[in-house]
Amino acid sequence: MIIINIVKITEKTARSILNKSKVFDYCLNPYTGCSHRCRYCYASLFMPRYSGHTEPWGQFLEAKINAPELLSRQLVRARRGTIWIASVCDAYQPAEIKYQLTRKCLAEIRHSDFPVFIQTKSDLVLRDLDLLQEIKEVELGFSIATDSDKIASLFEPGAPSISRRIRALEKIRKLNFKTFAFIGPILPQNPARLMSLVGGLVDKIFIDRLNYRSYFINFYRQQQLQAHVSDSYFEQVKKELQAAAEGYHLKVEAIF
Ligand code: SF4
Repeated sequence: MIIINIVKITEKTARSILNKSKVFDYCLNPYTGCSHRCRYCYASLFMPRYSGHTEPWGQFLEAKINAPELLSRQLVRARRGTIWIASVCDAYQPAEIKYQLTRKCLAEIRHSDFPVFIQTKSDLVLRDLDLLQEIKEVELGFSIATDSDKIASLFEPGAPSISRRIRALEKIRKLNFKTFAFIGPILPQNPARLMSLVGGLVDKIFIDRLNYRSYFINFYRQQQLQAHVSDSYFEQVKKELQAAAEGYHLKVEAIF
């Protein structure tokens, strides 16, 4: 079966691009919407209504075409702080190939002393390593919620495979960037195998369980995967990941 996702892209001018965040000092989202279409996406619960869209999550996208100019002005006025790219979209989703908004924002940030924390599911980030090497403090990581390409394609149908993310992480690691893996939400997986894929490639590992479970449980039921969304499953995986991480002298930071 071939699944074709049609994304309606509109170009918008944003009023602000460097916004306060509860997780880091700032978040920066060059797009509204995300064509990676993750089945567990918490942003899908509020972003369509917030942005006035009626299309399903993953089928609309707004490109904030004034993001670089706006950022340049906001960086001058803002207090120094870490910028999280991105909190409610993936800054390296396919539209970024055409719009290059993330790239142009990084080009602005390199003239500042603001640290950057980039979290993505896409190896498109490799395109921007030249700019990232010019930024003083960078942490660069991938969301890798399972070791299985099959499970990832089920839950993250618009995102590059786990194998591609791992290959990208290998390249990034060789350039001595600070790296991390975010294993969240914990998807059906073999924890020891997942650790064998990422353990030697990262400085930090964060893990989280599925949040807002009641909104997403139907999909797990349809796939007959509901056993993988129980408290006991998340606790078991956490324990196994933590044990496996010791072999790499890594500490797993659990957010639950
Ligand atoms: S990549 Fe992130 S923002 Fe995009 S759909 Fe997946 S979870 Fe949501």
